[in-house]
Amino acid sequence: MVTVDVEEERKEIIRRYRKLLRKAKPFLKDDDAKLIKKAFNVSLEAHKEMRRKSGEPYIYHPLAVAQICVDEIGLGTTSIVAALLHDVVEDTEIELDEIKADFGKKVAKIIDGLTKIAGVFDYGTSQQAENFRKMLLTLSEDVRVILVKLADRLHNMRTLGSMPRHKQLKIISETIYLYAPLAHRLGLYAIKSELEDLWLKYTETEIYNGIAEKIAENKTSRARFIRNFVSPIQDELNKTGLNFEVKGRPKSIYSIWNKMKKQDIPFEEVYDLFAIRIILDTEHEAEKAACWQVYSIVTDFYTPNPDRLRDWVSTPKANGYESLHTTVMSRTGKWVEVQIRTKRMDEIAEKGYAAHWKYKGGPGDSHESGLAQWIEKVREMLEQNDTNAIEFVDDFRANLFHDEVFVFTPTGDLKILPFGATALDFAFDIHTEVGAKCLGAKVNNKLVPLNYPLKNGDQIEILTSVKQKPTEDWLRFVVTSKAKSKIKDTLKEARKQAASDGKEIVKRKLKQMKIPFDGDVANQLRAFFDEKTITDFYYKVGKGIIDASEIKKYKDVKTDKTRPQRAKPLGQHYIDDMTKVKTAGKDILLIGEDMDMVDYRLAKCCNPIPGDDVFGFVTVNEGIKVHRTTCPNAPELLSNHGNRIVKAKWMSDQQNAFLAGLRIIGTDRVGLMRDVTDVISNELKVNMRSISIDTETGIFDGQIMLFINSTVHLEELSAKLEKVNGVMKVSRFDSVDNNEGM
Ligand code: MN
Repeated sequence: MVTVDVEEERKEIIRRYRKLLRKAKPFLKDDDAKLIKKAFNVSLEAHKEMRRKSGEPYIYHPLAVAQICVDEIGLGTTSIVAALLHDVVEDTEIELDEIKADFGKKVAKIIDGLTKIAGVFDYGTSQQAENFRKMLLTLSEDVRVILVKLADRLHNMRTLGSMPRHKQLKIISETIYLYAPLAHRLGLYAIKSELEDLWLKYTETEIYNGIAEKIAENKTSRARFIRNFVSPIQDELNKTGLNFEVKGRPKSIYSIWNKMKKQDIPFEEVYDLFAIRIILDTEHEAEKAACWQVYSIVTDFYTPNPDRLRDWVSTPKANGYESLHTTVMSRTGKWVEVQIRTKRMDEIAEKGYAAHWKYKGGPGDSHESGLAQWIEKVREMLEQNDTNAIEFVDDFRANLFHDEVFVFTPTGDLKILPFGATALDFAFDIHTEVGAKCLGAKVNNKLVPLNYPLKNGDQIEILTSVKQKPTEDWLRFVVTSKAKSKIKDTLKEARKQAASDGKEIVKRKLKQMKIPFDGDVANQLRAFFDEKTITDFYYKVGKGIIDASEIKKYKDVKTDKTRPQRAKPLGQHYIDDMTKVKTAGKDILLIGEDMDMVDYRLAKCCNPIPGDDVFGFVTVNEGIKVHRTTCPNAPELLSNHGNRIVKAKWMSDQQNAFLAGLRIIGTDRVGLMRDVTDVISNELKVNMRSISIDTETGIFDGQIMLFINSTVHLEELSAKLEKVNGVMKVSRFDSVDNNEGM
C-alpha cells in the first residue's frame, strides 16, 4: 500500500491549476477565467476517485493536456476548457448534454469528437483506423479536436513509463504511425520531434540512451564550434542594425538515429548534428529582403553548397513552414546548415498554425488559406473514401509523408501534389472527367505516358480521348487518394455492369435447360463454381471468364449430388491455430494470454531469434507469425490490427537454431574469407546457410546467413569475427524481404 498525503496532493493540484491560469492569462477575455475555473471544478469532481497508472491523481492529466495546449500549441480558452474536460464524458458519469448546457455547443462538439476517437474496443477489422478516420472527419468541423488530441497523446507518451509493456507497444506504434506524421502535417515540429524521440526511447531504449549521452558529451565542444563559426557573421550583422538572435539547434535523437541507420554510419560520422539558426526581428513587409540580406552576409564568409539552398520564404511549404536554409563549408572543413528566418516564421515552425492565428490580421493571409486548403483536401478524401478504413489510413499516410511537387497548368496555375504524383494524378486533380479520359500528357511540350512522375516546375497539358477508360493498372500509376478512389469508383461501376450482364446470361441459359431461376439455384451455381459471392459469379460469366456453356455441367453434377465442399470459413483458421497445442518439447516461444505453446512461424521480414523483444501476429492463412518489435512492419501491424496481436515470450534453455544475417565489412586480403568461415564453422560450430561476398573494390563486403541459438550466441560470434585480421565491422541485418506479415 502506498500512503497518500491528501492535503499535500490537494495543494499540488491547486498549484498546477494556477500555473495553467498564469500562462493563459495574457489572452483571456471577459468571462474566460470563470469558464476555465468551472471546467476545472467539473473535471476535478468527476475524476476525484480516479488515479493514473502511476498512482497520481487523475486530474494531473487533463491539467497537463491543457497546459500543453497553451504553452506548446498556442491555443485559447475553448481548447483549454475542452482539454480539461476531454476524458470526462468517456470515463465518468457526466453526459455530453450536461457539457453542452454548461459550456456551450462549441466545447461539446470538440469533446464529442475526442470521445469518439477514444472509443477503442479492439474488435473487428481495425478500430484504430476507423477512429482515426472519425477524428479527421471532425477536423473539417473544428481543427481543435485534433490539436487537443495531439496534446493528449503527447502527455500520454511523456508518462508512458508506468504502463505495462503490451500497452506501451500499442501506444508507441500508433504514435509513430499516425500521430507524429499528423503533427508534422499540421506544422507542429516540436511536438512531432518529441513524439518521434519518445517512440525511439521505448522501442530501442539502449540506442536512444547511447545517442542522448553522446549529444551531452559533445555539448562544450559544440558550443565552442558554434561561437567560432558565428562570430564573424555576428559582427557584420551588428553593423546592419538588424535585431537578431543566433541559436545552435541540435537535431532530434530520432533524426540522428534515422540518419545513422539510413547511411549505415556511426554517430561520429553524422555531419549535421546541429543547425545554426538566425532569427530576425523584422517588420512583416521587410521579412523577405532581410532574410536574403542575412544569407548574403553568411555566404560572404562561408562557401554555400548550391545543391542545398532551400527557399521556403518565397514559397512556403503546405503546412505553413517558412524558412531560408543553406548549407555552408565551415573553416574546419565541416558542412553546417544555417537556417534564416524571422521571429514570426520561427513561432509558426515550432508551434504550427495555431501560433500563426495569433498573427491573424497582418498581411500574408496566403497561409491562412493554406490551412483552409489543407482542411479542404482532407474533407475531399474523407468524402470519397467509403470503403476500407485501413486502406484509407494508408492512402492518407502516403499523402502525409510525402513532400510536395509544384507544377503548373498550361495557363500557369500552380498545383501542389504529393511527391511521386504522376501525370494521371494531375489529370484527376484538374477534374474527375479529365482523369477518366486521360490518354497521356504533354510535359513542357514533350509527350509523356500516364505514369510519368511529375517534377518541380513542370508545365502539364493533359490529352484526353472519349474512348479512354480506367483499368486496374491505373491504380499502380497514381499516388493521390483522390485519383485512387475515382479510379476505383469507375472500376466498381464497370464491374456492376458486367455482373448484371452475367446475370442475364445465366437466366437465359437456365431457361434453355428448363431449370427455373431462383435464389437457391443461383447459390448452388455459385458453390459449384467455387465463387465467394454471387456477384463474383455473375461478374465472371459477364466477362466470359466462366464460359456460359459450362453452366450445363452444373446440371449433370446437380443430379449426381456430389457438390464441391465449402471451404472452411476464414476465422476458423485462427481458432484452429490458436488452440493447436504442440506436443513435442521443441517449442521455444510461449504465445497468447495464457502463454500456451501453439503453432507459430518466425516472420521472414525480421528473423527473430531468442532474446529479441517479440510479438505474435495472427495471419489470415499462415497461422501465427512472430515478429520483432523493431521489425519495419511492426508499427503498421500493431496499430492497424490490434485485435490480431498476441503476446509472445521466449522460453529459455533452448538448443534450437535460428536464422540470422550478419554483414561483415573489411579490407580484402588473401585468405580473409577462409579465416571468417573458419571462425564460424570450426571454432564456434555454427551452421551457415548461405554466404555472399563482394570484393570488387578491395573492400570485403560479405553477407552471411547462419543458424544460431540466441542473441547472446550471436554477440559472441560477432565479437570473435571482429577480431579476425582485416575485419572492420560486423553487424546484424534484417532480411531484404520486407513485405511479409499480412
Ligand atoms: Mn486523455
